[in-house]
Amino acid sequence: MKIGIFGGTFDPIHNGHMKVAEVARAQLDLAKVIFVPTGQPCLKADTPISLAEHRVAMIRLAIADRPYFELSLAEINRPGPSYTVDTISELRDKLYIEDELFFILGWDSLLQIPRWKEPTRLIKLCYLVAVPRPGYKLLDLKGQKELISELSLSLILLDEPEINISATEIRKRLAQGSSIRRLVPAPVAEYIKSTGFT
Ligand code: ATP
Repeated sequence: MKIGIFGGTFDPIHNGHMKVAEVARAQLDLAKVIFVPTGQPCLKADTPISLAEHRVAMIRLAIADRPYFELSLAEINRPGPSYTVDTISELRDKLYIEDELFFILGWDSLLQIPRWKEPTRLIKLCYLVAVPRPGYKLLDLKGQKELISELSLSLILLDEPEINISATEIRKRLAQGSSIRRLVPAPVAEYIKSTGFT
């Protein structure tokens, strides 16, 4: 089985995430995509993030009508900072040898890979499926010589139009009292309105 894994803070989940997951599923013919919200993201340690219960509730709402999208609380339930390599290797252990894992990420995250825990082990455990993101160029990765040769074996670049939505922009709009209706799935907009989550 081909399984997509989509990690992130999802603070909140937005239409960019939904589109990225759909595009990866369709292009790679994935049986399912598992959304894995982070507990404490180690590269965002200085940015306060919303309570896991809110982030999780919004993911549940966003994926409720798509049976091929699932949610994993592996990182939320694991104490300490969340590392993708731990999540992927935990998952790998539970799968059949013929199952293939595809870790989906935006180019902004791909460029951070050299700073992740054990990047070389990570790219041996799964394919990386990278989706373009406004403002990021893959040329910036070329400096990471030691990773490049190994990356080339596991990297799948999806040639998709950029999607100009970020959770940062949504949080900014909420703080200003501006509308976020077109940026998040409708049930997520309702959740934000009714709980006053920010
Ligand atoms: P923030 O603005 O708070 O940093 P974000 O919008 O980047 O949040 P995350 O939850 O951090 O959202 O992202 C999870 C994953 O989704 C990352 O790999 C990120 O690159 C990817 N992603 C998010 N939005 C987009 C987008 N518009 N286009 C492509 N990839 C995206």
